[in-house]
Amino acid sequence: MKSFRKELYFHVATRRAFVNITSQVNDCLRESGVREGLILVNAMHITASVFINDDEPGLHQDYEKWLEGLAPHEPVAGYRHNVGEDNGDAHLKRQIMGREVVVAISAGRLDFGPWEQIFYGEFDGGRRKRVLVKIVGE
Ligand code: ZN
Repeated sequence: MKSFRKELYFHVATRRAFVNITSQVNDCLRESGVREGLILVNAMHITASVFINDDEPGLHQDYEKWLEGLAPHEPVAGYRHNVGEDNGDAHLKRQIMGREVVVAISAGRLDFGPWEQIFYGEFDGGRRKRVLVKIVGE
């Protein structure tokens, strides 16, 4: 069995953003040489997500509106977590958007359904953060 591990780095200038990372994950898959197996992609920070959905700008605006409705950034003082920090909302947004995705690898390719793409979701940007890619298979 082959095993591959790599950390991807993202530095999003804005507080929140969705970044399509499918091509970077595909690069990892090629580098791994795995043809049949599983790939795990997870955010290594508790204020960022990795999730799968459509790369459609309207949907991303809908996410932003929905998440701000559930856990608005302001007022910062509304979160008990915000003692010396201001990212209480980002932890909650991360929770609902998820920590990781697992994708099957079949015949050397990510075995996606229609329109599926992998995204990095940033909810407390302005600093460099890591995403772990782990691939196992043969
Ligand atoms: Zn925090």
